[in-house]
Amino acid sequence: MFETLSREADDPLLALTPLFRADPNPAKVDLGVGVYRDELGRTPVFRAVKRAEAHLLETQETKAYVGPEGDRTFIEAFWTFVAGEGRHAAGVQTVGGTGALRLAAELLRRSGSSRIFLGTPTWSNHSAIFAAAGLSVVTYPSFDVAGQRLLAGEMISVVADKAQPGDAILLHASCHNPTGAVMDDATWAAVAEVALEKGLVPVIDSAYQGFGTGIESDAAPLRRLLDRVPEAIVAASASKSFGLYRERTGAVYATSASPETRDKLKSHLVTIGRGAYSMPPDHGAAVVRTILTDPELRTDWRTELDDARKRITSMRTILAKGLSRLSPALAAIATQQGMFSLLPIDETRIVELRHRRGIYMPLSGRINIAGLNSSQAPGVIEALCAHAAL
Ligand code: PMP
Repeated sequence: MFETLSREADDPLLALTPLFRADPNPAKVDLGVGVYRDELGRTPVFRAVKRAEAHLLETQETKAYVGPEGDRTFIEAFWTFVAGEGRHAAGVQTVGGTGALRLAAELLRRSGSSRIFLGTPTWSNHSAIFAAAGLSVVTYPSFDVAGQRLLAGEMISVVADKAQPGDAILLHASCHNPTGAVMDDATWAAVAEVALEKGLVPVIDSAYQGFGTGIESDAAPLRRLLDRVPEAIVAASASKSFGLYRERTGAVYATSASPETRDKLKSHLVTIGRGAYSMPPDHGAAVVRTILTDPELRTDWRTELDDARKRITSMRTILAKGLSRLSPALAAIATQQGMFSLLPIDETRIVELRHRRGIYMPLSGRINIAGLNSSQAPGVIEALCAHAAL
């Protein structure tokens, strides 16, 4: 039976790492990675994570199951981190932000929703996750790559035109992957209005809180939206904000003004997770819980996250200045946020940059700004100006 399967395509982003590793060029630069890198090219374990782990090693007395919803203290502390004080939601711990999105998708389907609107380009896994749960994915262009401009008006009019009550719309909370584009307050407000008017459910993917302008400011648009719409889903990841990528730590939250409805929502989120993996893994959530509930660890973690953000911002400034010679639109890299920007380079030149200059990025042109350091930046700018020819 199995021989009848056809082979699935490899993920082009994951395929880039072995190519990079095999390149003997000592000056090679990996702009393809999806994780934070420091000035020395490392993805370090946060100091506060190490200290929380030492504490857990010392104090943990059992590995017995935590329970199907996960660690309640984590779920609540992480919700306050994302949504601020005083907002209510039904939440469960998930297997990373991806698990949170998948549970969100299943919850939508169980609630009678059958379609989700996705602005493109978006994180490559988004449509796969929603499609796997049986939702139809409706895409619309939301970013002009050559002009480095969010297509805000177009986005609102497409959704206002085509969406039906009960449809969902995916939004990036901050630090858009792959474009870095910032949705201004007016567009967030317009999305809230169209969601209200048409009875749409916003699904907010929060995977980079703290990497834009700050922990609180990055969450401000999401919080305002939650205050405006009666029902929404937040899929939150701790992978980047706590550097816990491989620990698979996240949570999904669904909001409703009614405590009875929240109780029902939680029962569904629990049973969806139970049918998929029974219970989430503990370690990453225990680390986040330890950090968020200990003032000293929390301060240390915030300082390290702030430093990571400042490094990215300074790389953005350097890159934007250098690349605006190539196209004035690329000056926008300085004000885009988070790890990623999307360069308007065609595939032939991306491959040329790999072979001739050892500069690696996926064929989409997405670059991880954190893949750069100050000594490499001038060379990368020179190579892009020489080979990209926009
Ligand atoms: N959403 C976005 C926009 C992402 O970029 C990612 C990870 N690259 C995720 C969600 C999923 O994160 P996690 O690793 O926690 O599953």
